[in-house]
Amino acid sequence: MVIQQAKQVWKKADAVCFDVDSTVITDEGIDELAAFCGKGKEVSQWTTRAMGGGISFRTALRERLGIIGATREKLHKFIERSPVHLTPGIRELVKRLQERGTAVYLVSGGFRRVIQGAAEQLNIPDENVFANRLQFDDEGHYCGFDENELTSDSGGKTKVLQLLKEKHRYKSLVMIGDGATDLETFPSAADTFIGFGGNVVREKVKAQAPWYVTDFKELLKELNPTSQSGVIEKGTENLHGASEHLLNGVNGASEHLITGVNGKHYI
Ligand SMILES: [Mg+2]
Repeated sequence: MVIQQAKQVWKKADAVCFDVDSTVITDEGIDELAAFCGKGKEVSQWTTRAMGGGISFRTALRERLGIIGATREKLHKFIERSPVHLTPGIRELVKRLQERGTAVYLVSGGFRRVIQGAAEQLNIPDENVFANRLQFDDEGHYCGFDENELTSDSGGKTKVLQLLKEKHRYKSLVMIGDGATDLETFPSAADTFIGFGGNVVREKVKAQAPWYVTDFKELLKELNPTSQSGVIEKGTENLHGASEHLLNGVNGASEHLITGVNGKHYI
């Protein structure tokens, strides 16, 4: 029953919000950045603690970014050298949604600059991306993050979805993600929630999601039940396979720096 209702909402969705880390991409951006800066172990210990509950998202973010202490230069190097790995099937799914006129958003507790490569590969415009921005001083030292971004605190994704619904008057807004912060958007903001376990399975999410999938093909199939998901879709996937591992460093040229009032820069 619950799953049937979720499928009904999915079929008529006029907006779909995707989580990014471990949903649209196969990795956790902050863990990757930490590993690149030689702080992988310390940060993953913090991540585990934060997921255990009792710590606000903002506190966990502040602590982990403090440990990483990446300079702007280091962040640029990370983006240049670390390919974005799109989850298999996401490209086809987003394309189909866009073709049928469904608005597609990325709503992430990760960093805008890091996920930009994924957004570009999926043809998702900047204004449809909600994520955090890091702050650097004139010398390029890390000095915080933009705390005005809704996604920088607990409940942030829910607030983003509520605002989107209000602004665009969406009737069927669907949230898709692997984590607890995705799950909590339903029912207060999202009209249904689809748990995604294709990269990592989180038991709480699996148990509580109205609909839980481990392959985006399951979602694609419901959008067009008559299609024989097989040869055609597989062919498309192979076509795109080569570009799947593009370095998002190619986007470096289009970087938008926003200068703050105190000589601080957000990326
Ligand atoms: Mg996630």
